[in-house]
Amino acid sequence: MRYRSTRGGPVVTLDTALLTGLAPDGGLYVPVALPRHAADDWPGEMTAHALAVEYLTPFFADSRLADALDDIVAETFNFSLPMVSLRRELGAPVSVLELFHGPTAAFKDVGARFLAACLTRLDQETRNDKPLTILVATSGDTGGAVASAFHGRTGVRVVVLFPDGRVSPRQQHQLTCWGDNVTSLAVRGTFDDCQQMVKAAFVDEALAEQYRFSSANSINIGRLLPQSVYYAAASYAYFRAHGERLHWIVPTGNLGNGLAAVIARACGMPMGDIAFVTNANRTLPDYLTSGDYEPRPSLATLASAMDVGAPSNLERLRDLFGESDALRQHALTAQSVSDEEIEARIRADIRRLPFAWCPHSATAMVAWERLAEGDKARHWALVATAHPAKFETIVEPLIGTEVAVPPMLAELLDRPSNYVTIDAGLDALRAHLL
Ligand SMILES: *Cc1c(COP(=O)(O)O)cnc(C)c1O
Repeated sequence: MRYRSTRGGPVVTLDTALLTGLAPDGGLYVPVALPRHAADDWPGEMTAHALAVEYLTPFFADSRLADALDDIVAETFNFSLPMVSLRRELGAPVSVLELFHGPTAAFKDVGARFLAACLTRLDQETRNDKPLTILVATSGDTGGAVASAFHGRTGVRVVVLFPDGRVSPRQQHQLTCWGDNVTSLAVRGTFDDCQQMVKAAFVDEALAEQYRFSSANSINIGRLLPQSVYYAAASYAYFRAHGERLHWIVPTGNLGNGLAAVIARACGMPMGDIAFVTNANRTLPDYLTSGDYEPRPSLATLASAMDVGAPSNLERLRDLFGESDALRQHALTAQSVSDEEIEARIRADIRRLPFAWCPHSATAMVAWERLAEGDKARHWALVATAHPAKFETIVEPLIGTEVAVPPMLAELLDRPSNYVTIDAGLDALRAHLL
């Protein structure tokens, strides 16, 4: 399998796409042709591991990592990704795919662990005098997941940039509790500023003399591939059991998780409609409605890991599947949810559900509630992207009680925190790195 830039530039192997993140022409790598899985021919009883390997194998054709795929999958998916039915509580066919049982309690652990497993293997082969430096801009969860996945691995450095004051206290702790080969920078600006700084560092000549950069943001294809595995696995299991396609509601910011769902479906996995939900940052819904793409500065919301005004992966979505008219025909929709709706949902649902939503996952429930009665008769899977304990300052006042902290998160919160605050812009980042 070869990968091409969305901007027409080079065609490269998976290994190059993983190591460089962004294409040299500023575009994002996409597969030259998506594989078509004949999931009907797959054996009915397949372990999640076997399915992940089967699903990913064509993406790894020609990669030096092909023989290691089995181990990479095992290292990545070493925590559970349960589907929890809410049929009893809601009296309707609704399930929640819980993606938050990894080390940093958000779905970002999947992509980060996969990237770490791939990059450390690739780097050992191409050992180089400049250590590989993973630059990661984070709106809250990516940085912690990437730091956790790479922490303690020799020969790789991680530099995390997060928007100062715009992440939850526990998220901030997760971003800053590492040390060793991980550096944490609080940027006086927004997530979009952090993302700009990473992009600018990639093409900066002074930095290129001393650093070899890769990106762990969802611009890296290595984030998307493993994320599409859990859609493939859950949809396949459902289809085998019920002979019907699951429909999906996916909370969305940079569109990495959402695009992964669309890719799984395009590869032939049995999936029905895909509904994206954004917070008050409505660039994506507005684009799908009007056809005009108008990136804008991000607004701060309660679902802060989705505060994105210029979703990077929209470039991939348009490249692979066409413009807004075509996208609507692909049974893709997008809608925006306000902070008031998020709060009301968290507050109301604690009375009918056995758990509290995190503010991001709550957007999916708001979107489900908006469905017409007929649509609610179809089986929907809501994607829960983070554990509510990461956002206790928002969730606990709404539910009037404490959220129990999962053990892995508790362990991280016990570690000391360390970071440096810098201005937005490449100059400040360059000064810090050199
Ligand atoms: C990153 C994140 C999102 C948004 O995911 P994208 O891939 O950027 O669309 C949603 N919820 C949580 C908790 C996240 O960390």
